[in-house]
Amino acid sequence: MTTTRQSYAPHEQARRFLSREVHQLWIGGQQTPASSGEKLPTVNPSTGEVLAHLAAGGRADVDLAVRAARGAFAGPWSAWSPYERQALLTRVAAMLDERFEELVEIEALDMGAPVSRLRNSKAALNRMLAFFAGQATNISGETLSNGMPGQIATMTLKAPVGVVGGIIPWNGPLNGQFWIIGAVLASGCTAVLKPSEDASLSVLRVAELLDEVGVPPGVINVVTGTGEAAGHALAAHPDVDRIAFTGSTETGRRIIEASTVNIKKLQLELGGKSADIVCSSADLDAAVPGAAMGVFANSGQICYAGTRVLVQRSVVDEFTERLLVFMDTLRVGHSLDSTASLGPVVSQPQLDKVLSYVDIGRGEGAELLRGGERMGGELGSGYFVQPSVFSGVTNRMRIAREEIFGPVLSILPFDDVDEAIAIANDSDFGLGGAVWSQDLSTALRVVNGVHTGTMWVNCYGYVDPLVGFGGTKLSGYGAKGSGAHMDTYLYTKCVYIQM
Ligand code: NAD
Repeated sequence: MTTTRQSYAPHEQARRFLSREVHQLWIGGQQTPASSGEKLPTVNPSTGEVLAHLAAGGRADVDLAVRAARGAFAGPWSAWSPYERQALLTRVAAMLDERFEELVEIEALDMGAPVSRLRNSKAALNRMLAFFAGQATNISGETLSNGMPGQIATMTLKAPVGVVGGIIPWNGPLNGQFWIIGAVLASGCTAVLKPSEDASLSVLRVAELLDEVGVPPGVINVVTGTGEAAGHALAAHPDVDRIAFTGSTETGRRIIEASTVNIKKLQLELGGKSADIVCSSADLDAAVPGAAMGVFANSGQICYAGTRVLVQRSVVDEFTERLLVFMDTLRVGHSLDSTASLGPVVSQPQLDKVLSYVDIGRGEGAELLRGGERMGGELGSGYFVQPSVFSGVTNRMRIAREEIFGPVLSILPFDDVDEAIAIANDSDFGLGGAVWSQDLSTALRVVNGVHTGTMWVNCYGYVDPLVGFGGTKLSGYGAKGSGAHMDTYLYTKCVYIQM
């Protein structure tokens, strides 16, 4: 593992955006100051320096934004045809293509993902926009037969649910916001987005760019601020019809409670502690880097990270040895360093949390084979933590049960596949997971046996909107992607017609 030594600056377009004194809320197609006049700092995690200030939105601002969204929902937007919404999504995709580098730099500086990772995410974003553009012209009800006496025709119609509250975490807002924006534009809903206080800037910039390509005022609004103030106000607002939430299980619980005020529809994408199962029949050339990056990508800040790496005992020594060699190729650096494969974690509290789990793991008797320290030198002022590996982990340990959300990989040995399935299922979460085996029947046994929303075989982390991605147990409900995703932005109207 190597580190970088240099200072980095964004290009002109991103610099101009970042130089604003305060980043205002985006309501009704306009920059709007927070009613309190207060602001929040947002920090560059690569340096620990304040990067920008965000307007600190609260209940009154959420109320204003919801009114703008409700007005837009009832306005000319409601008469846009599916073809017009599809054409709009196509323009959004073209805009993203053109402005992607600016957005990459803003995101990298705001939440710390290295530009190499963000640039690689462009293809996924293109697929997402293409998917939602297709969905705009694919909304249909059914004509149904019925058992009514007389001449009654019956059918169902699909209608947009209304105003959507989109509450977004910090670990990937540049792409993450489009799961909501895409569905909103395809379905004819409107939205108020509440990005994380640690990473709001790409969401604010995208809102302005959407305006430039013709998204009508009020269709997409952004209220920045804390979860306690702006997030809670959105989840509890009586005129918000649906919440799309991605974030921690604990916050998910709070949102369920707040949503009871008007029985909101909910989509909850929560935390995970996924098992990545490496069988003795695995191709270790693929499994070692695959399992490693299943944890270390985005510095471990991925909900479906395969942080419990279950390795069959007969290959555990070889796997571990090769894993440590692979880790020597990882390059940790400033998020604008295009040679860095890993950046910092998002904030000081997140760094503290990750390091505290390293202490917990040691205290529980696991053996720290690599890493476990904050990085120093030129990276010392940022929130960099060494990619870390524990061996000798048991599934009873807290490091195997709780979501760390940092670059900490635990190796848990197993003897046979049934034991691996039992360990994988002995978790409160059910988000991702993988099996590495060249024996298809073994792989399918694991796929069928593990209770989780998404399974990968001989790969890790692929997500295509055509297929979807989702969780079960404490990882939430309401899959992203596939027709099921769009369905949650629509409601069904049953129609009876006397002939
Ligand atoms: P978080 O739950 O702390 O915050 C997520 C969002 O909720 C933020 O915008 C925050 O301001 C807001 N929020 C906080 N308290 C709130 C409240 N009381 N009411 C309403 N909103 C509130 O999560 P995070 O730390 O930003 O992100 C990391 C978590 O997100 C991890 O648990 C990770 O697994 C999860 N995550 C899940 C997925 C998925 O698809 N399942 C994807 C990414 C991240």
